[in-house]
Amino acid sequence: MNSQIAVDQINEQGHLTIGGVDIVELAQKYGTPLVVYDVDQIRRQIRAFKKVFEEENMAYAVSYASKAFAAIAMYQVIAEEGAYTDVVSAGELFTAIKANFPMERVSFHGNNKSLTELEMAVKNHVGKIIIDNFHEIQLLAQVLKKYDATISVMLRIAPGISAHTHEYDQTGQIDSKFGFDLESGQAEKALKQVLANPRMKMLGIHAHIGSQIFALNGFEMGAQKLMVVAQDWREKYGYLAQVINVGGGFGIKYTQEDHPLRPEEFVKVIKTEAEKMNYPLPEIDIEPGRSIVGPAGYNLYTVGSRKDIPGYRSYITVDGGMGDNIRPALYQAKYETVLATDPQAPLTEHVRIAGKYCESGDILAEDQALPQVKAGDLLAMLDTGAYGYSMASNYNRNPRPAVVFAENGKAKLVIKRESLEDLVHLDQSYLN
Ligand code: PLP
Repeated sequence: MNSQIAVDQINEQGHLTIGGVDIVELAQKYGTPLVVYDVDQIRRQIRAFKKVFEEENMAYAVSYASKAFAAIAMYQVIAEEGAYTDVVSAGELFTAIKANFPMERVSFHGNNKSLTELEMAVKNHVGKIIIDNFHEIQLLAQVLKKYDATISVMLRIAPGISAHTHEYDQTGQIDSKFGFDLESGQAEKALKQVLANPRMKMLGIHAHIGSQIFALNGFEMGAQKLMVVAQDWREKYGYLAQVINVGGGFGIKYTQEDHPLRPEEFVKVIKTEAEKMNYPLPEIDIEPGRSIVGPAGYNLYTVGSRKDIPGYRSYITVDGGMGDNIRPALYQAKYETVLATDPQAPLTEHVRIAGKYCESGDILAEDQALPQVKAGDLLAMLDTGAYGYSMASNYNRNPRPAVVFAENGKAKLVIKRESLEDLVHLDQSYLN
């Protein structure tokens, strides 16, 4: 059986269960395509991150990068777990507000925050603004003056390290749209501007080196770079960083080729780098997105048409595709898929799983081993919880799927399936 499925996820009927709920029951009740999250798995992942920092006796914040999946229910779970979150838009912030998420635990990210977004952040007293560029320093100064407010900020630097999953490139990412460049002195100039503004409380330094990272040295290099910058700024400006934020990017197991790091591995490396400097150990913040929700998510599909091309391959088409998960089409992301009603069945053929959208590139899996499947069968694509629903679209005017949270044998609808009426509700007639 696929090693991404736990043995206790198979019930007496041989069906896959999520959060203790039978997949057949989920599909019958909510329809397909359907996104299902195992909430306990989300909680366990957050707790695993927190536990390592606590065992290491470090000041820390685990800040869920909500771009991976944002919904009122999701912010509620994050809040329940005592974690922090980061948002990158008015929409994510609004959703967090609707969820009653504690605003002091919110960081606001983004490389082009608008005046309106900054006003919203200041008026709602978000915990930190992660400043990305000079334009933002100016806008934020205006907003703080207008509301006679102060706010904690961090500076996002472009560390000159970019992670491409397995490789690192130490110079490439200077050429990035995110953050202040170090080499040309932009980061230092930004520091001076922020320190000169009494309404901005300069908490520390942030860097994010990439996503789906499996090698320890990326985090090591990132933490080292941040500490070198902190040390330099202390010497030059007497500025002492209270917080170092190393971003997210912790890789997950999408396929058998992926070998994720354990939280204790990268936390220790980051701590070691921070301790190497003759510098008071700052609070270490991390911003995991994918690693918190990715493995907890499943996309359920019903098989429809089949096309066998003699001498080539067989295509099976499901009732979803790039509209609910753009990642395979966008960057050839790979997933494992199982027959949800019998994940233990012997795998007898290799097929290409196609979506129903009008793009040849709408392929969910290039080559998936499956038992013989027929129209009406239920497939579960594994580890789809990150950047799937959050990037969903209405391409071809297909409604976006419903999202269900399952925990302790109970399922709860947390985002309704879009209806056909929903699809036209913003449309206006051109005729009088
Ligand atoms: N922090 C920042 C600044 C990011 O840009 C991202 C992702 O793009 C993340 C955190 C989350 O990364 P991941 O989902 O790979 O953990």
